[in-house]
Amino acid sequence: MKEALRQRARELGFDDCRVTTASPPETAPYFQQWLAAGRQGRMAWLERTMRERTDPQVVLSGARSIITLAASYHCRGSQTGSVARYARFDDYHNILSERLKILTDFVSQLGESGTRSQWYVDVGPVLERDVAQRAGLGFIGKHTNLISRRLGNWFFLAEIITTLALEPDPPERTRCGSCRRCIKACPTAAIIAPFQLDARYCISYLTIELKGSIPVALRPAIGNRIFGCDECLLVCPWNRFAREGQIMKTYARPGFTQLDLLDLLTLGESEFTRRFAGTPIQRVRRRGLLRNVCVALGNTGGEPVLAELHKATNDADPLVAQHAQWAVEQVTARISTHRGVLPD
Ligand code: SF4
Repeated sequence: MKEALRQRARELGFDDCRVTTASPPETAPYFQQWLAAGRQGRMAWLERTMRERTDPQVVLSGARSIITLAASYHCRGSQTGSVARYARFDDYHNILSERLKILTDFVSQLGESGTRSQWYVDVGPVLERDVAQRAGLGFIGKHTNLISRRLGNWFFLAEIITTLALEPDPPERTRCGSCRRCIKACPTAAIIAPFQLDARYCISYLTIELKGSIPVALRPAIGNRIFGCDECLLVCPWNRFAREGQIMKTYARPGFTQLDLLDLLTLGESEFTRRFAGTPIQRVRRRGLLRNVCVALGNTGGEPVLAELHKATNDADPLVAQHAQWAVEQVTARISTHRGVLPD
């Protein structure tokens, strides 16, 4: 049965498919401690769904197996950019969910009538990295993301929880050794210790999950990143095994590799929707993106961006206007410092 499942997953384009039991993840107590320390910041849904995350039986009573799936988003020749690599495609939730529905029906048909299965991609109440390590799909690195020996760091995870009993695969073990590259590379020191991330400092959290004002002290470290951050993933030596997946490459948005910050600063609501509908960037809406653009311009812009930044200080959205004001002050201070060092 498992070979038939793997074969169907491959046909649908998934790059890996493993199975584990539907018992609670052994790491659940660490997750609870992480929440108790408040390191999730404003991601309140993580607390709300704690019971589901720490016990698959709450999600699907009678569950016997969890199938974990990987879809690589590695693309050759796209190392850097102000938008995280995963977001340089159409929204992966939509893309993967179509295939997951087909695979979930297939799983249910493998069992006796009455077999029930439930699929999730990323947003589900599942401790997906922990479950994936137990299924042998990869291991959680010191940066707290999942790493596959076959795919490196660049892949999406999805799960099917099912009442079908399937033979579990052997678990994977941690393979970071003495490496600490990701810890050193994090621009905001958000990896406070190996395997411990304080999400409140993570640039992905600050530019995507956080809806309000970005703390002033953290803005300079964001650099020119306007949607997420790849630093800890980029430096990981396991990326030498990264390989291009079948599914995502069809949905790449090559223009997202390096977006023009000034151009983005002038976006109205309808133009924002036209450009970003159906992509992960849509999630932060115009106000979130322009907030991030202001921070990036404040960190990197020179005199030519000041006029547009001044206009943005009058934006109808106070969040954008406030961040634009901060950016004006940053750029102005930088210009005067540079002028001070020039000969008369
Ligand atoms: Fe582990 Fe090094 Fe990769 Fe960090 S960069 S996840 S320490 S192997």
